[in-house]
Amino acid sequence: MCGIVGYIGKQKASPILINGLMRLEYRGYDSAGISTIEPEGLVVMKDKGRVKNLYDLDGINDLKGTIGIAHTRWATHGKPSKENAHPHQDNSKLFSVVHNGIIENYNELRKFLTDKGYKFYSDTDTEVVPNLIHYYFSKDDEKDIKMRLLKAIKATCADLKGSFALEIICKDLPDNMIVVRKDSPLVIGKGDGENYISSDIPAILSFTRNFYLLNDLEYVFLSRDSAEFYDKDLNKIDKQIQSIEWDASSSEKNGYEDFMLKEIYEQPTAIRETIGAKFNENSKCEFDELNFSKEYLSSVNKIYIVACGTAMHAGLAGKNVFEKLCRIPTEVDVASEFRYRDPLIDDKTLCIFVSQSGETADTIAALKLSKERGAKTISISNVIGSSITREADYSMYTHAGPEIAVASTKAHTSQIVLLIMIAIYFAEVLGKDSKELLELKKELLELPKQIEQCLTLADTVKEFAHKIYQEKDVFFIGRGVDEVVAKEASLKLKEISYIHSESYPAGELKHGAIALIEKGITVVGIMTDPTLVEKTVSNLQEVITRGAKTLIVTNQKIDKSMFDVVVEVPETNPFLSPVLSVIPLQLLAYYISKEKGLDVDKPRNLAKSVTVE
Ligand code: GLU
Repeated sequence: MCGIVGYIGKQKASPILINGLMRLEYRGYDSAGISTIEPEGLVVMKDKGRVKNLYDLDGINDLKGTIGIAHTRWATHGKPSKENAHPHQDNSKLFSVVHNGIIENYNELRKFLTDKGYKFYSDTDTEVVPNLIHYYFSKDDEKDIKMRLLKAIKATCADLKGSFALEIICKDLPDNMIVVRKDSPLVIGKGDGENYISSDIPAILSFTRNFYLLNDLEYVFLSRDSAEFYDKDLNKIDKQIQSIEWDASSSEKNGYEDFMLKEIYEQPTAIRETIGAKFNENSKCEFDELNFSKEYLSSVNKIYIVACGTAMHAGLAGKNVFEKLCRIPTEVDVASEFRYRDPLIDDKTLCIFVSQSGETADTIAALKLSKERGAKTISISNVIGSSITREADYSMYTHAGPEIAVASTKAHTSQIVLLIMIAIYFAEVLGKDSKELLELKKELLELPKQIEQCLTLADTVKEFAHKIYQEKDVFFIGRGVDEVVAKEASLKLKEISYIHSESYPAGELKHGAIALIEKGITVVGIMTDPTLVEKTVSNLQEVITRGAKTLIVTNQKIDKSMFDVVVEVPETNPFLSPVLSVIPLQLLAYYISKEKGLDVDKPRNLAKSVTVE
């Protein structure tokens, strides 16, 4: 999920690798490492912390190798530590491997290899990769060592479930490197008698502007002055070189204008990674991190979901699901309030704390308080090893990848998905109606594709943003779960466009705020719950009568003629709809901010990680 760099050429590799890693630092990471091919074999140097710490490692300046691989890690499996940092090697140190992504079935593969006598020295999912390559490589009697290695890597990739970009070097092939990717980025930059490899173009843009872009499961066999491409069956293929015209800063954003837009578009992947392999063959939801018994969950008489800002809105979307599926009363609290309101907590209370960074001061303080009072605590964060994960009894992770824009988008939708998955797990342990759960799980797995559909609404939303960007006030209304989306959409708009906005339960508007509705004011209505749609339409009628302009987000068949703009999101289970209906509204906030010429990624007065109370 973080960064990969590689070099194969005539120059000393290590400074090029470290320089490349530094250019990927903006993405956030927790450890870094390199491996080069030296006369005595493969050398690995790695450590927790900053890339520049690599320069302090004993012997790093003595590396002479002209071929090497490098990695910045953003931990997904195993805490940030030297042992878990990449590169990883097989037991006989024949291969060094760096990996971006997640191997979802690593437990199964680890067991397979352990049974064959392999030992593991890290907690990562990655370490199965070099050992599997070794396993296939050593049992093949193919004479051509190049083909033998390609075949071993192909067999390994066939065993891997999940996402990966891999760079592999082998002691027995000291003039080559093999790379492959699946659902994780990787490019080859062509130089003169040298090749550069990276997960992201900016890391190597200062060395070359000529790139080969890889498709999933294409294998590349690299020499200093050539790159041979093979398809998934190891048939040789031709690949066209492409020239990149971007400047370095836009390429950090993969061609997107801003990190926020990039992150909005990364949501299908973020959700796919967060769901991962949690549903196993017999379809029960399983978490390595949770092992609750039916007795314990039956004794829980209250769940608190505690968080701040956008994470708190994810909690509101989750509340509904815990109550309806598990029949456990669930309250959502703002962390800075919760800790001062003497909450009713005892050993029958289960508290879930949600924080993207895992460093939110108020949320951590609320967690400590809940523990003192005897509650069991679960943390949900996007950053492995963050403070909140060290305090909680159970730590769960969204796998959204680094989120750089201050306004949270992909972390938010991933949090909702993870909360729903925890609710499904609880419901299964409690023995609730399995047919309903099965249906819900099926629909959950559809989300990444449906998010892609939502992203195609961007042009319609952009047009509407152009019409309203000079406004002073915007209202968002919805009922039930749609009101949660109204809250989040309103917050997003405030954060990055500085337009005053309010969100209301649609039926509540006429109890006061409707006094503010006058000709030309914008009201955004969200309607996805079929049981409530007619009611919300009536409330919208009330504001239209008073001259409001309306933008509607819906997945229901409605009479569109009364509204100014209607964007249609795919239909899904009402529990899941906040994940889809928020997408056009994230885009709305984004395009309004752009129309106003504001700094979308770094809005005024806001910080990404709020570490003060
Ligand atoms: N899943 C791997 C790990 O936790 C790779 C993470 C990454 O992409 O940085 O080590």
